[in-house]
Amino acid sequence: MRVPGAFGTRPLDRFRILPDHRVAQSPWCAQLCSPVGGDAGGPLVGSMTRVLCAFGTRPEAIKMAPVVAELGTRPGIDCSVAVTAQHRELLDEVLDLFGILPDHDLDVMTAAQTPSEVAARILGNVGDLLAKSDPDWVLVQGDTTTAMAMALGAFHAGVRVGHVEAGLRTGDRLHPFPEEVNRRVVSMVADLHFAPTASARANLLAEGIDDASVIVTGNTVVDAFVEISARPFDTTGTPLEGVPLGEGRLVVLTAHRRESLGAPLREAFQAVRALVERYDDLRIVYPVHPNPDVRGAAFDVLGQVDRVHLVSPLDYRSFVGLLSQAHLVLTDSGGVQEEAPSAGVPVLVLRDVTERPEAIEAGTARLVGTTATRIVSAASRLLDDRSAYEAMARASNPYGDGRARIRIADAFDAGR
Ligand code: UDP
Repeated sequence: MRVPGAFGTRPLDRFRILPDHRVAQSPWCAQLCSPVGGDAGGPLVGSMTRVLCAFGTRPEAIKMAPVVAELGTRPGIDCSVAVTAQHRELLDEVLDLFGILPDHDLDVMTAAQTPSEVAARILGNVGDLLAKSDPDWVLVQGDTTTAMAMALGAFHAGVRVGHVEAGLRTGDRLHPFPEEVNRRVVSMVADLHFAPTASARANLLAEGIDDASVIVTGNTVVDAFVEISARPFDTTGTPLEGVPLGEGRLVVLTAHRRESLGAPLREAFQAVRALVERYDDLRIVYPVHPNPDVRGAAFDVLGQVDRVHLVSPLDYRSFVGLLSQAHLVLTDSGGVQEEAPSAGVPVLVLRDVTERPEAIEAGTARLVGTTATRIVSAASRLLDDRSAYEAMARASNPYGDGRARIRIADAFDAGR
């Protein structure tokens, strides 16, 4: 995350670039353009702890952006960013929103890529990347193939690994696929584990990970959600333009998990169709993931259904705005389960297993699988029973207080 040509006369590691004026509206995003390291007497680059934040997909970028911004404010930390671009367009939109200019871009995405191909391309490049950037730490997030391959590459190069959102487990290697195995690999090679919740910490300890290396921080997605919700929101020029969001009860749908592709996804879509036919005040908005298998099934089952709006993936500001107006969320996404409680919106999780039991325990989410009858019955209960709905809507968010980024940066500061 270096200064481009226009700012080239400034000491490179002491300023952050702000390509988009919107960034200045935010408390912590504004720090992206602030002098890093305080006045001219601040620590020299050579004495800094060098942290390379590495990520490649939209959800990782959303969850790492607050950490990148916070690390950038710490005088003793030299923070740089490497993206793999495992997902190109969805990633770039988030980088732009948060004003992050990566220092390194591996640009690995290809059409119809498999997890092995992504991992191979990253592992083939990570040695050069680490030789060039020479970090003390590589910081990865979550459970993508990017996180796994970057962490493994750092381990091979003898560079310490920090893991944001550590310790999530379903206990089932195939669900989610390949994420459950990815995150276990990261845990095996990581030196610092930033667990979002106490139960994630407990999962790590149960695997024999040293308690001293685990820090419970909350989930950084709450930091991102709070930050972006505070910015102005207007649907003009977005895929939501023209969708009458204020008419009737709004249900937001997101679904694209690899292990749900095929029959489970189609059945979930049939449940959505049944719901909209049963309740004439329901309006469904589904930002459809670009994966052709997801798009094909979505347009096939829901394409011609009245009051169902299939729209292109939304930029994060628009998605947060949509979520804030929702009555109910149906999703198989992890991040959305963690964000919706901050908007006071009940979530029905379209999966059979979850690595996020806190949401179920706190009452903000219910696990309903992909069987049509179960989805319709769980949604109908919330749509018909005001007190059941209020109990879920009022439950507080178990994923954090919006200060996770500070605890993570503190750990690097404390370790200097
Ligand atoms: N999201 C977004 N635009 C959309 C749909 C989702 O910005 O059209 C955001 C959402 O707010 C959440 C993240 O993307 O933070 C979730 O991404 P995804 O479902 O791809 O991944 P997961 O959370 O399951 O890892």
